[in-house]
Amino acid sequence: MRCEEVQEQLSALIDEQLNHGEREQVMLHLLHCETCFRQYEELRQFVEFCRQLESPEPRIDLWRELQPALAQIVAEQRLPLSQRLRRQWSRLVSQVCYGIILFLQVVTYQLTITLSRYIMEPERAAYGRPMRG
Ligand SMILES: [Zn+2]
Repeated sequence: MRCEEVQEQLSALIDEQLNHGEREQVMLHLLHCETCFRQYEELRQFVEFCRQLESPEPRIDLWRELQPALAQIVAEQRLPLSQRLRRQWSRLVSQVCYGIILFLQVVTYQLTITLSRYIMEPERAAYGRPMRG
């Protein structure tokens, strides 16, 4: 096999798209040709890098955390529509409640700051700027 032929097949080799015979020929060439082997290594590393960017391997811990949730989702898909809607509705309601609580906390915080300004320094707060003199 000539170097050009081998180099044309390097990406197919890395993607495991060569049949057994082709694969053997290319590998044999790589064993003896440093130029092609270097190209193969560079391409392989590049492809590996791209794959890592595309889909990072899920960590085992993460998978353990996700699996029960996934199982629950799958189990829920099998429920009749009425039950599924009821569950989704109650989830929506609880999320809206969380939102309201969060909103109220922010409002209360703002109100506390404003009120404390009035209580500590009523005149300064009323005019909205520091007093002079
Ligand atoms: Zn070569």
